[in-house]
Amino acid sequence: MAEKQADCIIIGAGPAGLGAGLYAARDRFQMILLETFYPGGQIINTDRIENYPGFDNIAGADLILKMSEQVQAFGGQILTNSPAEKLSRRSDGMIEVLSGSDKYIGKVVILAPGSSYRKLGVPGEDQFRQAGAGVSYCGTCDAPFFKEKIVVSIGGGNTAVEDTLHLAKYAKKVYMVHRRQEFRATKVLVEELMGQVNRADSNLELKLDSVVTQIAGDQKVGKVILKNVKTGKTEEIACDGVFIFVGMVPNTGFLKGFVDLTEAGFIQCDPAYLRTRVPGVFVAGDCRIGAAMQLSTAVADGVNAAMWMKHYLRDPGWWNLPLSDALSPADW
Ligand SMILES: Cc1cc2nc3c(=O)[nH]c(=O)nc-3n(C[C@H](O)[C@H](O)[C@H](O)COP(=O)(O)OP(=O)(O)OC[C@H]3O[C@@H](n4cnc5c(N)ncnc54)[C@H](O)[C@@H]3O)c2cc1C
Repeated sequence: MAEKQADCIIIGAGPAGLGAGLYAARDRFQMILLETFYPGGQIINTDRIENYPGFDNIAGADLILKMSEQVQAFGGQILTNSPAEKLSRRSDGMIEVLSGSDKYIGKVVILAPGSSYRKLGVPGEDQFRQAGAGVSYCGTCDAPFFKEKIVVSIGGGNTAVEDTLHLAKYAKKVYMVHRRQEFRATKVLVEELMGQVNRADSNLELKLDSVVTQIAGDQKVGKVILKNVKTGKTEEIACDGVFIFVGMVPNTGFLKGFVDLTEAGFIQCDPAYLRTRVPGVFVAGDCRIGAAMQLSTAVADGVNAAMWMKHYLRDPGWWNLPLSDALSPADW
């Protein structure tokens, strides 16, 4: 069993973990980044990013390569094939992280294991998932690629409504499919949606009490098959893209009982300083409650966690300060 100590152990080499790693390494902290597979996270699955400031179009893999090299150039250690499996806090305040037969001990841990889009689980979903084939899970990311096209959006929660409204700004026609009559999204969003649907020149049409049972096409998405759950009737909708907004699954199973999780598995934290309930353990990126689920916000979270870590290392009592006292403007 290998045992290594560091000032900071970061879990997950996606954008959040790499953002944290860059700041920690550049601040000359000893830092170890543990990654289950290889650096990348979700963004490695896309070859077109248009909304990361400073890059008008870059592939996820290229951006991640630059991020990883930057971390390593400042002396940060990235350990691949090293999943964090169990965490505990010792009585001396150090945090232990077990990965296989290895043990990592840090003064601070930044949790950045990310999350995954929940899949719909219908035929065609995986086939057309690769970039440009027409299945997407992020309206904010991909709506501009469907300018003047016909798209189908699926879901009934806040993200589904928000991203469908966003899609309607670009697409020629948006069919929004929801399995119930009522939406789970907040009232104000549903009112906005209905306002848009009821406009005489609306490009948005609701398909309620309906589910998509198949996504079909040749090289790209060409149509979906809908089924009305009340009547059992099926119908085909010709379309160029399908946006699936049925939730996210955070990669936090290994943290159960260590930090507080929401029912859906997102890590609870204070929204300003990203402190979890365990002193010395911060959280960053898509795995946390209230995450905006974007590349730039994940990076920003990582940077913030690495900045706030310095307050804790200087004075562990900082951890217990209420939000309003944790940092006064005078600190700057
Ligand atoms: C296809 C696709 C396209 C996207 N396009 C865009 C876009 O154009 N613009 C945009 O802003 N956003 C986009 N996103 C969203 C963006 O990728 C995410 O918001 C961002 O990657 C979140 O970063 P993260 O670091 O929090 O988590 P993740 O990217 O999920 O990274 C988490 C990392 O942690 C690792 N990990 C998990 N558990 C453990 C463990 N126990 N131990 C060690 N490592 C672990 C994972 O292997 C992974 O590498 C897209 C997402 C997808 C899937």
